[in-house]
Amino acid sequence: MKYVGAHVSAEGGVQNAPLNANAIGARAFALFTKNQRQWFSAPLTAKAIDEFRHNCEKFDYKPFQILPHDSYLINLGHPEKEPLEKSRNSFLDEMKRCELLGLDRLNFHPGSHLNAIEAEKCLERMAESINIVLEKTKGVTAVIENTAGQGTNLGYAFEQLRHIIDFVDDKSRVGVCIDTCHAYTSGYDVKTEAGFDETFKEFDKIIGFKYLKGMHLNDSKKDFGTRVDRHENLGTGFLGDSTFKFIMKDNRFDGMPLILETPEESLWEKEIALLYSFAGTGAAK
Ligand SMILES: [Zn+2]
Ligand SMILES: [Zn+2]
Repeated sequence: MKYVGAHVSAEGGVQNAPLNANAIGARAFALFTKNQRQWFSAPLTAKAIDEFRHNCEKFDYKPFQILPHDSYLINLGHPEKEPLEKSRNSFLDEMKRCELLGLDRLNFHPGSHLNAIEAEKCLERMAESINIVLEKTKGVTAVIENTAGQGTNLGYAFEQLRHIIDFVDDKSRVGVCIDTCHAYTSGYDVKTEAGFDETFKEFDKIIGFKYLKGMHLNDSKKDFGTRVDRHENLGTGFLGDSTFKFIMKDNRFDGMPLILETPEESLWEKEIALLYSFAGTGAAK
């Protein structure tokens, strides 16, 4: 079964996210559990937690259909001590928020070396950050997202994601999320059928499908190999429709949140319906 949705707004409180998801026919959703442009936010209130859980139950969203995303400020591989500490504390807070909401995974960008530390060391530092946070939390998997490789961002190659996983102690609580736009602009040809097959064959060999905990379904404003992270609405960017047809017909992507992060939100309802039409099954429910 395919679970397609979008990164919906949690304005006014996390409890609104499942309502916003349901309103566009989503069978999965992503959300920020706090202001994504701030290091720390006020704790979740008991009321917000209760209402979030209630609304998820009401519209039948289970934890495996929900992919919260952390703040953009966090860099778990930061070369300097102080910002690294701040990132780790902020990430711990995000994991704890997910725990309180009853969620089972948290999606994050691995981080950047900022030209101040070797790439390999930086990846190991990210793993150390994950280890610290996993030890202090329960039940939430740390889901590393592949990046476009923009600037000094790491995690654009499957080998790099694998290197992080290799250094994580509890392998049962680490996973990955593959973003189609990031994959394409970082140099994985997910657009042609042969390229898509080869990419996910390599993914399975290097990382393994058992680590896949979600996908971001985005078209790309930039061309293959440009290493630029700019999403586009489905079918209107450099990817076109093909990638999304391959995914929707492939049962290796069943049972996990498939999330749109496309720029024009008013199109999400149509994009979700279009994706389900590619699967030939109609909506999951
Ligand atoms: Zn993404
Ligand atoms: Zn992106």
